[in-house]
Amino acid sequence: MRKRILRRNMARWLLPLALLVPLCAEAASVDNLRLWAAPDHSRLVFDLSSPVTAEVFTLEDPRRLVIDLQDSEFNADADRLDLSGSAIREVRTGVRNGDDLRVVLELSRAVEPRHFTLEPNEQYGHRLVVDLEYPGESAVEDPIDPIEAKIREQEIAAERAQAEAVAEGRDPDTVTPAAKQAQPHPKRDIIIAVDAGHGGEDPGATGPAGTREKDVVLEMAKRLSRLINATEGFKAVMIRDGDYYVGLRQRTRIAREQKADFFVSLHADAFNSPRPHGSSVFALSQSGATSETAKWLAASENRSDLIGGVDGNLSLDDKDEVLRGVLLDLTMTATLNDSLTIGGRVLDRMGRVNDLHKSQVEQAGFVVLKSPDIPSLLVETGFISNPQEERRLRDGSYQQRMMQAVFGGIRAHFERNPPPASLLAWQRDQGRGGAGDEYRIQPGDTLSEIAARHNVPVGQLRQANELNGDVIRVGQVLRIPSS
Ligand SMILES: [Zn+2]
Repeated sequence: MRKRILRRNMARWLLPLALLVPLCAEAASVDNLRLWAAPDHSRLVFDLSSPVTAEVFTLEDPRRLVIDLQDSEFNADADRLDLSGSAIREVRTGVRNGDDLRVVLELSRAVEPRHFTLEPNEQYGHRLVVDLEYPGESAVEDPIDPIEAKIREQEIAAERAQAEAVAEGRDPDTVTPAAKQAQPHPKRDIIIAVDAGHGGEDPGATGPAGTREKDVVLEMAKRLSRLINATEGFKAVMIRDGDYYVGLRQRTRIAREQKADFFVSLHADAFNSPRPHGSSVFALSQSGATSETAKWLAASENRSDLIGGVDGNLSLDDKDEVLRGVLLDLTMTATLNDSLTIGGRVLDRMGRVNDLHKSQVEQAGFVVLKSPDIPSLLVETGFISNPQEERRLRDGSYQQRMMQAVFGGIRAHFERNPPPASLLAWQRDQGRGGAGDEYRIQPGDTLSEIAARHNVPVGQLRQANELNGDVIRVGQVLRIPSS
């Protein structure tokens, strides 16, 4: 502390001198610190008066992270930083080599540090971002069961192999042999990825009364997740469940890692005038937006990464997500059809809770909707820029009814079209006769035997039951087509 006062006084004396000599680069000042705690990392942001060069390294015994900023001084209040939920126990600062700043973080756990600088944008000036990543930690608080994940992985792989065969003009039956014995029915949950838009450094839109989009959508995401988890046969995975930023591509990557059957992103956006109001539902469009508002909203959502900071690992992992050529087209078309169907059901129900901004599912190029094989929707729950809707968006009972509408639409879709390994599919089959033109699969059955016994080609049996994997399940009911 005394050192700092000394330096200030010196600066006062030296200032006239400095004007006489050619101006050397002015020292950067750390004006503010912000901290965001996520399940798999903490992000510490330094707000700076000008760009800095930083060096970041860890020390052991006790565990510390050292951040050296060249030619910088500290003018923030580290004591006011809320450290709860983060890996940081304490922040200390000191002067080094006369002009340099050293910030030492006392840590409560092992971290892998990563840092980068950001240029000024609409909201913030120069920034140094230090991410403290926790090795081996999941990005979500409540990840799916590893066994369920394995089952899903097999389903996805089988579906992909089938789509590939169709795309290449091969007989799908040669890809997935029909000789495999019936498996026990896994009765798995249907996984819904719930994405609260924005977060952390990116507040999203702000209403005339100061309501922040990132806060109301997080409240709604929590409500939606509770509704989903309270429903047998469904499980919610929250893409973010606190006030921290997740990169746009990272959001879809988490959904894939968690083997989501469906992805829904919640928003409450603003327009450049207070008049527009009403809720809307968006699916992906790869070729232009269906309306001017759609274009405007997509552009403002996609700016998020500039404000919240992109995820550094992206370019590498992104390659996994690229399915090429015809396969991609086929998958994308099927996925988009599902998205539009589910979107219609959600929109219907939302129309009973709030005015609709548009009576149809709109389409626009939102980055967050670009998973090739997970049906995805972006829901604008209302315009936060409209004073009346801003008030509703903060209201718990409005939030609840809105989320009931969203889940109602999703649920209705999956009840009609349950994935074969899901509990919902098993329940549906228990209600079916299993007689006449139907057959209930018994332990030891294979698809080719069942086909032979009923005198139908395997391909036809598959088609009639929309079987696109190589797995059949005990208790599953097959419709036997008349040959
Ligand atoms: Zn938004």
